[in-house]
Amino acid sequence: MRSCEVMIVGGGPAGSSAAWKLRRAGADVLVLDRERFPRLKLCAGWITPEVVRDLDMDVGAYPHRLLTFPRLRMHFGRLQVPIACVQHSIRRVEWDAWLLERSGAPVIEHNVRHIERVSDGYVLDGAFRCRYLIGAGGTRCPVYRELFRELNPRSSELQIVTLEHEIRYDWEDGDCHLWFFDHGLPGYSWYVPKERGWLNVGIGGIAARMKRGGHDIREHWARLAAMLDAGLTPGAEYDPSGYSYYLRGEVAVVRRDNAFITGDAAGLASRDLGEGIGPAIRSGLRAAQSILEGTPYRLEDVTGLSIGSIARSMLGRVARAGRYGPRRPPASEGGPAHGLRHRD
Ligand SMILES: Cc1cc2nc3c(=O)[nH]c(=O)nc-3n(C[C@H](O)[C@H](O)[C@H](O)COP(=O)(O)OP(=O)(O)OC[C@H]3O[C@@H](n4cnc5c(N)ncnc54)[C@H](O)[C@@H]3O)c2cc1C
Repeated sequence: MRSCEVMIVGGGPAGSSAAWKLRRAGADVLVLDRERFPRLKLCAGWITPEVVRDLDMDVGAYPHRLLTFPRLRMHFGRLQVPIACVQHSIRRVEWDAWLLERSGAPVIEHNVRHIERVSDGYVLDGAFRCRYLIGAGGTRCPVYRELFRELNPRSSELQIVTLEHEIRYDWEDGDCHLWFFDHGLPGYSWYVPKERGWLNVGIGGIAARMKRGGHDIREHWARLAAMLDAGLTPGAEYDPSGYSYYLRGEVAVVRRDNAFITGDAAGLASRDLGEGIGPAIRSGLRAAQSILEGTPYRLEDVTGLSIGSIARSMLGRVARAGRYGPRRPPASEGGPAHGLRHRD
């Protein structure tokens, strides 16, 4: 049986951030993931300046695709609202593998099925033993399923369904576009360019409201694809896939004995924009901190609404422009305010 002090189930942003913090403090950590990295993760790959700061990430040294947006273009019907703020995009297939490797934690490919509570910790599938257990396995996390589901039932009113596709495409418009409530969609669709000829487009909406309103996400998709074909992405061909996750509701219990749940396993995506990467990372870091310092595991500073982060980024830009005139954002916001970071 393989033993370690802290076992992390899932090597996505929540698990790799927890592993990174624990390893930096010298803890004995092991990550189990059912997939071999680099692995595909359906996600638009939009990240905020907070994510860059939380990960202590030097975007200039990041070895894969990263694009910085000087603004978000939000569409409400015919109204288009450009929001001047600094945000970024990455490709999850690259970024997740990079984060996991950077954590320095050993990773074993293993699909966790069964978790047993024993006197001094946990035994997973009769093969792995640990004192502390971090559930970072996303929506279908076995730690949530086996230890937390009864205490934290998920609300179907908070379930998001999505369709998305990331394609090679030589886009011309390098801004991120979001279309809200188009044709009654209880959610939004997106166009998120990635550095060097990649593009992610998708749709997300609250499943229960879509069902009640008689919406078919594939019809919304067809409308989005037609709009993009006539405008931003002529000639692009899409073959979308779906995935589901949960917006943040009441998360009553996030720690049970020495077991923790983080990220999508806990259902922490922001209520307004379904931002899940930032909350996954912050919660992973907080779980690690709790183990290292023996302090309570709390989610108070884990983003519940993304609009606050966007507003802070906007205000930061306005304040800097007022003080110094047009300029580049500080390194902590990671990258140029305008234009793209291209690497040959
Ligand atoms: C279409 C779509 C677009 C999105 N766009 C954005 C966006 O642009 N920005 C944003 O912030 N958020 C976005 N999100 C949400 C974001 O992708 C998630 O919130 C985020 O990935 C959560 O990270 P995590 O580490 O908790 O889980 P995950 O990233 O899902 O990682 C979980 C890991 O656990 C592993 N695992 C699962 N089960 C097991 C098991 N039984 N045994 C071992 N390993 C297991 C999986 O293989 C996976 O590697 C989007 C989501 C979707 C579906």
